Amino acid sequence: MISLYSGEFLEISIRNLMIPSERVAHVQVGNNLEHALLVLTKSGYTAIPVLDPHYKLHGLISTPILMDSILGLERIEFEKLEQKRVEEVMNTAVPRVKSSASLQTCLELLVNHPFLCIESEEGIFEGILPRSTVLHQLNKHIRKVSKNHIES
Ligand code: AMP
Repeated sequence: MISLYSGEFLEISIRNLMIPSERVAHVQVGNNLEHALLVLTKSGYTAIPVLDPHYKLHGLISTPILMDSILGLERIEFEKLEQKRVEEVMNTAVPRVKSSASLQTCLELLVNHPFLCIESEEGIFEGILPRSTVLHQLNKHIRKVSKNHIES
């Protein structure tokens, strides 16, 4: 049986795993949907955070939400891209944790979300923790522990 505690997998600080805010593609409150579509398309991500100038997290904007909001009855209303602001359509139910949260808490949330937003105690956006990063780390840990197990 491979223990997740040996090698301290569950003790890893999420600060050491997260993508820091300066490397996270995001949009700002007040940006229109055209700008959001540009950032989403250029970054290649399907969902990105919506922040204010103080780096407080307000929601997530995704390509499906954005496209749905410009879908008319008979046509795609492209003119709405310029007229609408991200805060009118963004999803405010953001999977978020404090940077002091345990990796176990993150794992539970990552079952249902491709990434989590990480905030400081003061509610300032610090970065994101993608599911793929945690799986990569877990894979590394399992390989290391099984190697040690075979050798002993
Ligand atoms: P990944 O597991 O790397 O594919 O990332 C999962 C999701 O996390 C992506 O689809 C994005 O929504 C988000 N994501 C990952 N890296 C970034 C980044 N640098 N900037 C913004 N969003 C990101």
